[in-house]
Amino acid sequence: MLDEKVIRTVDAAVDAEKDALSKLSTSIHQNPELRFEEVKAAGWICELLAARGMAVTRGVADMPTAFMARAGKSGGARIGILAEYDALPQIGHACGHNLIATAGVGAFLAASKVAESLGGEVVLFGTPAEEGGGGKVKMIDAGLFEGIDAAMMFHPFDRDVLAHPALANTWVTFTFGGAAAHAAIAPQDGKSALTGCMDTFRLIDGQRVHFLDGVRVHGFIVNGGQAVNIIAETAACEFSVRARTTDELTRVRAIVERCARAAAMASDVTISISERRGYKDMRNNMALARAFGQHMSALGRPPRETDGRVGAGSTDMGDVSHVVPSIHPWLAIVDENVALCHQHKFADAAGSARGIDTALVAAKAMARTASELLVNAELLATVKREWQEDR
Ligand SMILES: [Zn+2]
Repeated sequence: MLDEKVIRTVDAAVDAEKDALSKLSTSIHQNPELRFEEVKAAGWICELLAARGMAVTRGVADMPTAFMARAGKSGGARIGILAEYDALPQIGHACGHNLIATAGVGAFLAASKVAESLGGEVVLFGTPAEEGGGGKVKMIDAGLFEGIDAAMMFHPFDRDVLAHPALANTWVTFTFGGAAAHAAIAPQDGKSALTGCMDTFRLIDGQRVHFLDGVRVHGFIVNGGQAVNIIAETAACEFSVRARTTDELTRVRAIVERCARAAAMASDVTISISERRGYKDMRNNMALARAFGQHMSALGRPPRETDGRVGAGSTDMGDVSHVVPSIHPWLAIVDENVALCHQHKFADAAGSARGIDTALVAAKAMARTASELLVNAELLATVKREWQEDR
Protein backbone atom coordinates (compact mmCIF):
# COMPACT_ATOMS: atom_id res chain seq x y z
CA MET A 1 0.00 0.00 0.00
CA LEU A 2 1.09 3.50 -0.74
CA ASP A 3 1.31 6.19 1.93
CA GLU A 4 -1.67 8.61 1.88
CA LYS A 5 0.68 11.57 1.79
CA VAL A 6 2.41 10.26 -1.35
CA ILE A 7 -0.98 9.68 -2.99
CA ARG A 8 -2.04 13.24 -2.21
CA THR A 9 1.25 14.64 -3.57
CA VAL A 10 0.93 12.71 -6.81
CA ASP A 11 -2.75 13.46 -7.41
CA ALA A 12 -2.29 17.16 -6.62
CA ALA A 13 0.63 17.33 -9.07
CA VAL A 14 -1.54 15.94 -11.90
CA ASP A 15 -4.43 18.26 -10.95
CA ALA A 16 -2.07 21.25 -10.99
CA GLU A 17 -1.08 20.39 -14.59
CA LYS A 18 -4.63 19.80 -15.81
CA ASP A 19 -4.77 22.86 -18.10
CA ALA A 20 -1.30 22.35 -19.54
CA LEU A 21 -1.97 18.65 -20.15
CA SER A 22 -5.37 19.29 -21.78
CA LYS A 23 -3.79 21.86 -24.07
CA LEU A 24 -0.99 19.43 -24.96
CA SER A 25 -3.46 16.67 -25.78
CA THR A 26 -5.60 18.93 -27.95
CA SER A 27 -2.62 20.41 -29.81
CA ILE A 28 -1.25 16.97 -30.69
CA HIS A 29 -4.73 15.72 -31.62
CA GLN A 30 -5.35 18.65 -33.96
CA ASN A 31 -1.94 18.28 -35.64
CA PRO A 32 -1.61 14.59 -36.48
CA GLU A 33 1.90 13.63 -37.59
CA LEU A 34 2.93 10.29 -39.09
CA ARG A 35 5.62 7.98 -37.76
CA PHE A 36 9.06 9.59 -37.37
CA GLU A 37 7.59 12.97 -38.41
CA GLU A 38 6.22 13.90 -34.96
CA VAL A 39 8.22 17.13 -34.88
CA LYS A 40 5.50 19.33 -33.40
CA ALA A 41 4.30 16.79 -30.86
CA ALA A 42 7.80 16.00 -29.57
CA GLY A 43 8.58 19.73 -29.55
CA TRP A 44 5.51 20.64 -27.48
CA ILE A 45 6.14 17.86 -24.97
CA CYS A 46 9.81 18.79 -24.55
CA GLU A 47 8.91 22.49 -24.18
CA LEU A 48 6.46 21.68 -21.40
CA LEU A 49 9.02 19.48 -19.63
CA ALA A 50 11.69 22.17 -19.95
CA ALA A 51 9.27 24.77 -18.58
CA ARG A 52 8.93 22.55 -15.49
CA GLY A 53 12.69 22.49 -15.07
CA MET A 54 13.22 18.96 -16.39
CA ALA A 55 16.41 17.96 -18.18
CA VAL A 56 15.45 16.60 -21.59
CA THR A 57 17.67 14.81 -24.10
CA ARG A 58 16.28 15.00 -27.60
CA GLY A 59 17.12 12.92 -30.66
CA VAL A 60 18.04 9.75 -28.77
CA ALA A 61 18.65 6.45 -30.63
CA ASP A 62 19.24 8.40 -33.86
CA MET A 63 15.59 9.45 -34.09
CA PRO A 64 15.04 13.23 -34.20
CA THR A 65 11.58 12.89 -32.62
CA ALA A 66 12.62 10.58 -29.76
CA PHE A 67 13.59 11.98 -26.37
CA MET A 68 14.24 11.09 -22.75
CA ALA A 69 13.76 13.01 -19.51
CA ARG A 70 14.91 12.01 -16.04
CA ALA A 71 14.05 13.10 -12.53
CA GLY A 72 14.98 12.01 -9.02
CA LYS A 73 18.10 10.56 -7.50
CA SER A 74 20.14 7.65 -8.82
CA GLY A 75 20.84 4.72 -6.56
CA GLY A 76 17.28 3.53 -6.01
CA ALA A 77 14.78 1.96 -8.37
CA ARG A 78 14.49 3.36 -11.89
CA ILE A 79 11.01 3.40 -13.40
CA GLY A 80 10.22 4.07 -17.05
CA ILE A 81 7.07 5.80 -18.28
CA LEU A 82 6.43 5.76 -22.02
CA ALA A 83 4.80 8.36 -24.24
CA GLU A 84 3.69 7.74 -27.84
CA TYR A 85 2.51 10.58 -30.09
CA ASP A 86 2.37 9.41 -33.71
CA ALA A 87 -0.81 9.41 -35.79
CA LEU A 88 -2.17 7.36 -38.69
CA PRO A 89 -2.44 8.12 -42.42
CA GLN A 90 -5.82 9.66 -43.37
CA ILE A 91 -7.54 9.01 -40.03
CA GLY A 92 -5.40 11.16 -37.73
CA HIS A 93 -5.24 10.30 -34.04
CA ALA A 94 -7.55 7.32 -34.40
CA CYS A 95 -5.35 5.36 -32.01
CA GLY A 96 -5.41 8.13 -29.37
CA HIS A 97 -1.65 8.42 -29.01
CA ASN A 98 -2.12 12.09 -28.07
CA LEU A 99 -3.72 10.79 -24.86
CA ILE A 100 -0.86 8.34 -24.28
CA ALA A 101 1.59 11.25 -24.48
CA THR A 102 -0.57 13.38 -22.18
CA ALA A 103 -0.88 10.66 -19.53
CA GLY A 104 2.83 9.84 -19.77
CA VAL A 105 3.89 13.46 -19.27
CA GLY A 106 1.43 13.92 -16.39
CA ALA A 107 2.56 10.72 -14.67
CA PHE A 108 6.23 11.64 -15.10
CA LEU A 109 5.80 15.15 -13.67
CA ALA A 110 3.82 13.80 -10.69
CA ALA A 111 6.09 10.83 -9.94
CA SER A 112 9.17 13.07 -10.23
CA LYS A 113 8.01 14.88 -7.07
CA VAL A 114 8.10 11.58 -5.18
CA ALA A 115 11.44 10.55 -6.69
CA GLU A 116 13.01 13.88 -5.77
CA SER A 117 11.87 13.72 -2.14
CA LEU A 118 12.01 9.98 -1.39
CA GLY A 119 14.69 8.76 -3.82
CA GLY A 120 14.79 6.65 -6.94
CA GLU A 121 14.42 7.80 -10.52
CA VAL A 122 11.64 8.17 -13.05
CA VAL A 123 12.50 8.26 -16.73
CA LEU A 124 10.14 9.47 -19.43
CA PHE A 125 10.70 7.85 -22.82
CA GLY A 126 9.38 9.79 -25.80
CA THR A 127 8.84 6.94 -28.23
CA PRO A 128 8.10 7.79 -31.89
CA ALA A 129 6.54 5.68 -34.59
CA GLU A 130 4.55 3.03 -32.73
CA GLU A 131 2.49 2.72 -35.93
CA GLY A 132 4.86 0.58 -37.94
CA GLY A 133 8.20 2.25 -37.20
CA GLY A 134 9.16 0.56 -33.95
CA GLY A 135 10.63 3.54 -32.12
CA LYS A 136 10.80 1.54 -28.90
CA VAL A 137 12.67 -1.28 -30.65
CA LYS A 138 15.33 1.20 -31.79
CA MET A 139 15.56 2.58 -28.25
CA ILE A 140 16.00 -0.95 -26.86
CA ASP A 141 18.71 -1.64 -29.47
CA ALA A 142 20.46 1.59 -28.42
CA GLY A 143 20.58 0.28 -24.85
CA LEU A 144 18.29 2.96 -23.47
CA PHE A 145 16.24 0.53 -21.37
CA GLU A 146 19.30 -0.88 -19.60
CA GLY A 147 19.02 -0.28 -15.87
CA ILE A 148 15.26 0.34 -16.02
CA ASP A 149 13.47 -1.78 -13.38
CA ALA A 150 9.92 -1.57 -14.72
CA ALA A 151 8.05 0.24 -17.50
CA MET A 152 4.49 1.40 -18.04
CA MET A 153 2.15 3.23 -20.38
CA PHE A 154 -1.58 3.27 -20.99
CA HIS A 155 -3.57 2.92 -24.21
CA PRO A 156 -7.05 4.30 -25.00
CA PHE A 157 -9.78 1.73 -25.67
CA ASP A 158 -13.53 1.17 -25.29
CA ARG A 159 -13.21 -0.54 -21.87
CA ASP A 160 -10.89 -0.66 -18.87
CA VAL A 161 -8.66 -3.76 -19.07
CA LEU A 162 -5.47 -4.31 -17.08
CA ALA A 163 -3.80 -6.97 -19.18
CA HIS A 164 -4.69 -7.49 -22.83
CA PRO A 165 -2.58 -9.54 -25.25
CA ALA A 166 -0.66 -7.95 -28.09
CA LEU A 167 0.32 -10.15 -31.02
CA ALA A 168 3.82 -10.79 -32.30
CA ASN A 169 3.94 -9.45 -35.85
CA THR A 170 5.97 -8.86 -38.97
CA TRP A 171 5.47 -6.99 -42.24
CA VAL A 172 6.35 -8.67 -45.53
CA THR A 173 6.27 -7.08 -48.98
CA PHE A 174 6.15 -9.18 -52.15
CA THR A 175 7.14 -7.45 -55.37
CA PHE A 176 6.32 -9.24 -58.60
CA GLY A 177 7.99 -8.62 -61.96
CA GLY A 178 6.25 -9.63 -65.20
CA ALA A 179 6.30 -8.59 -68.83
CA ALA A 180 4.43 -5.57 -70.17
CA ALA A 181 2.20 -6.03 -73.20
CA HIS A 182 -0.87 -4.36 -74.67
CA ALA A 183 -3.76 -5.90 -72.76
CA ALA A 184 -6.00 -5.97 -75.84
CA ILE A 185 -3.65 -6.17 -78.85
CA ALA A 186 -1.21 -8.79 -77.51
CA PRO A 187 -2.19 -10.16 -74.10
CA GLN A 188 -0.42 -13.40 -74.99
CA ASP A 189 2.92 -11.58 -74.81
CA GLY A 190 2.40 -10.32 -71.29
CA LYS A 191 3.08 -11.79 -67.87
CA SER A 192 0.94 -10.20 -65.20
CA ALA A 193 2.63 -9.16 -61.99
CA LEU A 194 -0.81 -8.10 -60.72
CA THR A 195 -2.14 -11.62 -61.09
CA GLY A 196 0.79 -12.75 -58.95
CA CYS A 197 -0.34 -10.28 -56.31
CA MET A 198 -3.99 -11.27 -56.43
CA ASP A 199 -3.27 -15.01 -56.40
CA THR A 200 -1.16 -14.46 -53.28
CA PHE A 201 -4.29 -13.19 -51.49
CA ARG A 202 -6.37 -16.11 -52.76
CA LEU A 203 -3.81 -18.75 -51.77
CA ILE A 204 -3.36 -17.28 -48.28
CA ASP A 205 -7.13 -17.30 -47.79
CA GLY A 206 -7.08 -21.02 -48.59
CA GLN A 207 -4.53 -21.63 -45.84
CA ARG A 208 -6.48 -19.89 -43.06
CA VAL A 209 -7.99 -23.22 -42.04
CA HIS A 210 -4.52 -24.14 -40.72
CA PHE A 211 -3.93 -21.04 -38.59
CA LEU A 212 -4.07 -21.21 -34.80
CA ASP A 213 -6.47 -19.00 -32.84
CA GLY A 214 -5.42 -15.41 -32.71
CA VAL A 215 -3.52 -15.41 -36.02
CA ARG A 216 -4.17 -12.41 -38.23
CA VAL A 217 -2.96 -12.09 -41.82
CA HIS A 218 -4.07 -9.00 -43.68
CA GLY A 219 -2.64 -7.33 -46.76
CA PHE A 220 -3.14 -4.58 -49.30
CA ILE A 221 -1.91 -3.94 -52.82
CA VAL A 222 0.83 -1.33 -52.74
CA ASN A 223 1.27 -1.24 -56.51
CA GLY A 224 -1.47 -2.57 -58.75
CA GLY A 225 0.17 -2.04 -62.11
CA GLN A 226 0.87 0.75 -64.58
CA ALA A 227 -2.27 1.34 -66.66
CA VAL A 228 -5.50 -0.42 -67.50
CA ASN A 229 -4.33 -1.28 -71.02
CA ILE A 230 -0.93 -2.62 -69.99
CA ILE A 231 -0.48 -6.10 -68.56
CA ALA A 232 1.10 -5.17 -65.22
CA GLU A 233 4.88 -5.34 -65.46
CA THR A 234 5.36 -4.70 -61.76
CA ALA A 235 3.01 -5.06 -58.83
CA ALA A 236 3.49 -5.38 -55.09
CA CYS A 237 1.50 -6.26 -52.00
CA GLU A 238 2.29 -5.91 -48.33
CA PHE A 239 1.10 -8.27 -45.61
CA SER A 240 0.98 -7.92 -41.88
CA VAL A 241 1.31 -11.33 -40.23
CA ARG A 242 0.44 -11.65 -36.54
CA ALA A 243 0.25 -14.47 -34.03
CA ARG A 244 0.05 -14.95 -30.29
CA THR A 245 3.53 -16.46 -30.09
CA THR A 246 6.78 -16.04 -31.98
CA ASP A 247 6.75 -19.75 -32.91
CA GLU A 248 3.32 -19.50 -34.56
CA LEU A 249 4.37 -16.25 -36.24
CA THR A 250 7.39 -18.00 -37.79
CA ARG A 251 5.22 -20.89 -38.99
CA VAL A 252 2.53 -18.67 -40.54
CA ARG A 253 5.11 -16.30 -42.05
CA ALA A 254 6.56 -19.32 -43.93
CA ILE A 255 3.09 -20.30 -45.21
CA VAL A 256 2.48 -16.76 -46.46
CA GLU A 257 5.79 -16.74 -48.31
CA ARG A 258 5.03 -20.14 -49.81
CA CYS A 259 1.72 -18.77 -51.16
CA ALA A 260 3.45 -15.78 -52.72
CA ARG A 261 6.07 -17.98 -54.38
CA ALA A 262 3.38 -20.33 -55.69
CA ALA A 263 1.47 -17.35 -57.08
CA ALA A 264 4.61 -16.13 -58.83
CA MET A 265 5.17 -19.56 -60.33
CA ALA A 266 1.60 -19.77 -61.61
CA SER A 267 1.96 -16.49 -63.50
CA ASP A 268 5.57 -17.09 -64.53
CA VAL A 269 6.62 -13.81 -62.93
CA THR A 270 9.57 -13.02 -60.69
CA ILE A 271 9.21 -12.33 -57.01
CA SER A 272 11.35 -10.42 -54.55
CA ILE A 273 10.66 -10.33 -50.83
CA SER A 274 11.43 -7.66 -48.29
CA GLU A 275 10.56 -7.66 -44.63
CA ARG A 276 10.26 -4.98 -41.99
CA ARG A 277 11.07 -6.07 -38.47
CA GLY A 278 7.87 -6.41 -36.47
CA TYR A 279 7.08 -6.45 -32.78
CA LYS A 280 7.14 -9.07 -30.06
CA ASP A 281 4.09 -10.29 -28.18
CA MET A 282 3.15 -8.43 -24.98
CA ARG A 283 4.12 -10.06 -21.69
CA ASN A 284 1.92 -8.34 -19.16
CA ASN A 285 3.47 -8.29 -15.70
CA MET A 286 0.48 -9.20 -13.57
CA ALA A 287 1.95 -8.10 -10.23
CA LEU A 288 2.52 -4.66 -11.70
CA ALA A 289 -0.81 -4.66 -13.55
CA ARG A 290 -2.67 -5.46 -10.32
CA ALA A 291 -0.87 -2.68 -8.45
CA PHE A 292 -1.97 -0.29 -11.20
CA GLY A 293 -5.49 -1.77 -11.02
CA GLN A 294 -5.74 -1.10 -7.29
CA HIS A 295 -4.94 2.56 -7.89
CA MET A 296 -7.47 2.72 -10.73
CA SER A 297 -10.10 1.23 -8.42
CA ALA A 298 -9.26 3.76 -5.72
CA LEU A 299 -9.67 6.47 -8.36
CA GLY A 300 -13.19 5.21 -9.08
CA ARG A 301 -12.50 3.08 -12.16
CA PRO A 302 -12.16 -0.58 -11.21
CA PRO A 303 -10.80 -2.30 -14.35
CA ARG A 304 -11.33 -5.88 -15.54
CA GLU A 305 -8.20 -7.97 -15.36
CA THR A 306 -8.64 -9.30 -18.92
CA ASP A 307 -11.38 -9.38 -21.56
CA GLY A 308 -11.29 -12.15 -24.16
CA ARG A 309 -14.27 -10.71 -26.07
CA VAL A 310 -12.21 -8.10 -27.87
CA GLY A 311 -9.44 -8.54 -30.44
CA ALA A 312 -5.76 -7.72 -30.05
CA GLY A 313 -3.31 -5.71 -32.14
CA SER A 314 0.46 -5.42 -31.98
CA THR A 315 2.70 -2.88 -30.28
CA ASP A 316 6.40 -2.23 -29.80
CA MET A 317 5.61 -2.14 -26.07
CA GLY A 318 5.69 -5.93 -26.54
CA ASP A 319 9.42 -5.66 -27.23
CA VAL A 320 9.86 -3.54 -24.10
CA SER A 321 8.02 -6.20 -22.07
CA HIS A 322 10.64 -8.74 -23.14
CA VAL A 323 13.51 -6.67 -21.69
CA VAL A 324 11.83 -4.97 -18.68
CA PRO A 325 8.79 -5.94 -16.54
CA SER A 326 6.02 -3.94 -18.22
CA ILE A 327 2.33 -3.09 -18.29
CA HIS A 328 0.17 -1.70 -21.09
CA PRO A 329 -3.30 -1.28 -19.56
CA TRP A 330 -6.18 -0.22 -21.81
CA LEU A 331 -8.67 2.39 -20.57
CA ALA A 332 -12.00 3.47 -22.01
CA ILE A 333 -12.47 6.77 -23.83
CA VAL A 334 -15.81 5.63 -25.32
CA ASP A 335 -18.55 3.25 -24.26
CA GLU A 336 -18.00 -0.43 -24.94
CA ASN A 337 -18.48 -1.46 -28.61
CA VAL A 338 -19.14 2.14 -29.70
CA ALA A 339 -15.75 2.53 -31.38
CA LEU A 340 -12.34 0.88 -31.44
CA CYS A 341 -8.83 1.90 -32.45
CA HIS A 342 -8.25 2.98 -36.08
CA GLN A 343 -11.86 4.08 -36.63
CA HIS A 344 -12.95 7.67 -37.36
CA LYS A 345 -15.21 7.64 -34.30
CA PHE A 346 -12.25 6.67 -32.14
CA ALA A 347 -10.29 9.66 -33.45
CA ASP A 348 -13.18 11.87 -32.32
CA ALA A 349 -13.12 10.23 -28.88
CA ALA A 350 -9.36 10.85 -28.63
CA GLY A 351 -10.11 14.57 -28.92
CA SER A 352 -13.03 14.58 -26.49
CA ALA A 353 -13.25 15.80 -22.89
CA ARG A 354 -13.80 12.18 -21.84
CA GLY A 355 -10.56 11.23 -23.55
CA ILE A 356 -8.65 13.88 -21.61
CA ASP A 357 -10.34 12.82 -18.35
CA THR A 358 -9.17 9.26 -18.95
CA ALA A 359 -5.61 10.45 -19.69
CA LEU A 360 -5.61 12.38 -16.39
CA VAL A 361 -6.85 9.36 -14.40
CA ALA A 362 -4.23 7.23 -16.17
CA ALA A 363 -1.58 9.80 -15.25
CA LYS A 364 -2.55 9.58 -11.58
CA ALA A 365 -2.70 5.78 -11.54
CA MET A 366 0.67 5.50 -13.32
CA ALA A 367 2.29 8.10 -11.05
CA ARG A 368 0.96 6.26 -8.00
CA THR A 369 2.17 2.91 -9.35
CA ALA A 370 5.61 4.30 -10.25
CA SER A 371 5.87 5.90 -6.78
CA GLU A 372 4.90 2.62 -5.16
CA LEU A 373 7.71 0.88 -7.03
CA LEU A 374 10.14 3.55 -5.82
CA VAL A 375 9.22 3.24 -2.15
CA ASN A 376 8.09 -0.39 -1.85
CA ALA A 377 11.07 -2.69 -2.44
CA GLU A 378 8.90 -5.74 -1.81
CA LEU A 379 6.55 -4.90 -4.70
CA LEU A 380 9.46 -4.29 -7.05
CA ALA A 381 11.00 -7.64 -6.01
CA THR A 382 7.69 -9.44 -6.68
CA VAL A 383 7.39 -7.77 -10.09
CA LYS A 384 10.94 -8.79 -11.01
CA ARG A 385 10.49 -12.35 -9.74
CA GLU A 386 7.39 -12.80 -11.92
CA TRP A 387 9.26 -11.44 -14.93
CA GLN A 388 12.17 -13.84 -14.37
CA GLU A 389 9.81 -16.81 -14.04
CA ASP A 390 7.98 -15.74 -17.23
CA ARG A 391 11.15 -15.83 -19.33
ZN1 LIG B 1 -2.06 2.65 -30.59
